Amino acid sequence: MNQMIKILVIEDEKNILNFISSVLTSQKYQVISALTGRDGLSQAASQCPDLILLDLGLPDMDGMSIISQIRKWSSIPIIVISARIQEEDKVQALDQGADDYITKPFGNSELLARIRTALRHSSQLQTGATLSSRPYHSGGLTIDFEKHLVTRDGQEIHLTQNEFKIIALLAKNCGKVLLYDRLIEHIWGPYSENDNTILRVNMANIRRKIEPNPAEPVYIFTEIGVGYRMVEED
Ligand code: CA
Repeated sequence: MNQMIKILVIEDEKNILNFISSVLTSQKYQVISALTGRDGLSQAASQCPDLILLDLGLPDMDGMSIISQIRKWSSIPIIVISARIQEEDKVQALDQGADDYITKPFGNSELLARIRTALRHSSQLQTGATLSSRPYHSGGLTIDFEKHLVTRDGQEIHLTQNEFKIIALLAKNCGKVLLYDRLIEHIWGPYSENDNTILRVNMANIRRKIEPNPAEPVYIFTEIGVGYRMVEED
C-alpha cells in the first residue's frame, strides 16, 4: 500500500538509520538515505521524496538550516528526529517549517504514526477543504465543523466561539503539534499579544467540558513549552 511513497532519511548515526530503514521497509515504504546534510539536500532536490526524516545533529550542517533551505523551494513534509530535548529547538524547527518532531529514543509505532499524520496532512492540503469539513471522530468525541457542534457520547457540549475555534483547528490538524503562537494568532489575530495565559484559560475550559478527567487528558495533549496536539481519529 505504501509502495509508491518514498522517504528520505537524513541521519549520520548508522544504527539509528538502520533501525528507521528496517521499520519503514517492513511497511513497504521506499527508503533512501543520506549521512550528511549536504548529501541530504542534494537528494531532496534530485529524488523528489514524499517525506523527509531529518536528524538535527549532523556532522557538516545544522539541521535548522537544512529545513529553511528546503522550505525555499518545497513544502514536502519534514519530520525532525532529534536527541535535543530543549523546547526552543522544537519551536524553532517548527517555526522554520518542519511539520513535526520526534524525540530519540522513539519506538516504531510512534515513528509510523508521525509519518502517517504528516503524509495525510500534505495530501489534504492538495485536495482542498472537502476532506477536512467532514466531522472529526475519536473515542466518544465528535466535532461537526459545518454545524459547529461538539458532542461527547451523544451529549451536546456547549463551547464559546473561541473555544470552538481552538478545538476545530486542533482537530483538523489532529496528530500534529500546533505551536502556542500559531494558535493564538489564528484565534485572536496577528496583532494579539503572544501571551499564553488567555490560551491556557481557554484550554482549561475546553478540557473541563470535553475530557472525562481534565487532569489526565485523552483528547488534547500538552507538549510542554511547545503547543498542543489533538489525538488522531479512530
Ligand atoms: Ca546525529
